[in-house]
Amino acid sequence: MSKNIFVYVEAAEGKAKNVGLEILTPARVAADGGEVTAVVIGNGVEEAAKQAIAFGADKVIAVDDAQYATYNTDTYANALVELVKKYNPNAVFVGATPDGKDFAPVAAAKLGSGCVANVTGVAVEDGKIVYTSPVYAGAILNDAVCESDVEFAVLRSGAFKKAEPDEAKAGEIIAEPITCAADAIRAKVVDVVKEISETVNLEEADVIVAGGRGVGSAENFAILKELADALGGVIGATRAPIEAGWISRAYQIGQSGKSVAPKLYIACGISGATQHVAGITGADYIVAINKDEDASIFDIANVGIVGNLLEVVPVLTAEVKKLKG
Ligand SMILES: Cc1cc2nc3c(=O)[nH]c(=O)nc-3n(C[C@H](O)[C@H](O)[C@H](O)COP(=O)(O)OP(=O)(O)OC[C@H]3O[C@@H](n4cnc5c(N)ncnc54)[C@H](O)[C@@H]3O)c2cc1C
Repeated sequence: MSKNIFVYVEAAEGKAKNVGLEILTPARVAADGGEVTAVVIGNGVEEAAKQAIAFGADKVIAVDDAQYATYNTDTYANALVELVKKYNPNAVFVGATPDGKDFAPVAAAKLGSGCVANVTGVAVEDGKIVYTSPVYAGAILNDAVCESDVEFAVLRSGAFKKAEPDEAKAGEIIAEPITCAADAIRAKVVDVVKEISETVNLEEADVIVAGGRGVGSAENFAILKELADALGGVIGATRAPIEAGWISRAYQIGQSGKSVAPKLYIACGISGATQHVAGITGADYIVAINKDEDASIFDIANVGIVGNLLEVVPVLTAEVKKLKG
């Protein structure tokens, strides 16, 4: 039975965040021949709306007002609730960003609905959407179905692949002038402080040079940073160097860190533990550098280099710089 699916496509500075575009893909699976409608909320979201169409939405509902310039749980949840009441989708998919994780369950509760968290897989069985989420630190994959009239799911970033964009694709953009009554806004945002976790934008990066215990020290991360800079990317890390105090937790990739989906992932001195690999399943191309030829990271790498990263990485950086002229 086909379904109509809402996908909240979060915008930052007018542009769609990757996760919103990624989750259009499982929404198409869940729709099972039905319609996928992107919902964008913000102030100046026209470009994000067009991106949603290019990446696979059939149409977009845009709630564009100065009231949404800064994220606020009450205003965003209210807008989503009003849209669900008006359009009656079967399910609402929201990306697991800090904002998404905050307002999706609030909107679901206001509608008396369920909300499945941390979803990494979506399938349809016997006409029902089945949501897969890792539980017990990833030891078990739990399948859940939701019995509400409209079901909410928060989907993990990096777990699904974006479609190839089709810039020529046409789709209707419906403007919905919803605003939230002042007395319904309980939380007042007085200031927005960009903490380090927001400035490390691993989820959006096309290139990540990640370091593990094999990097050996905080200082050696500078070698990785040079390669990342030369490639226009960012650095990331396994849990081991974070626990050693070499780099901040904002850089952690893996099951208890961030899920990433870069075009290129360079793993330096990383053994390939399942808890780390769980966070890089969305990477297109993996290059691994490890001095142990039996390291399990080589099992998932597209290219493996057996060697000392402290020697290999500077050579790669010099070659990249040479190629770029
Ligand atoms: C509940 C739970 C959640 C977890 N969540 C996460 C998570 O989110 N992310 C995560 O990363 N981990 C996580 N872990 C930890 C995980 O199990 C591993 O311990 C961790 O990923 C190992 O990190 P590593 O590969 O850097 O270190 P190691 O496993 O110690 O590997 C270091 C590698 O570096 C190589 N090496 C050493 N020196 C060099 C050199 N000079 N040049 C080249 N190679 C070299 C070695 O051969 C080795 O393969 C979690 C664990 C648990 C129990």
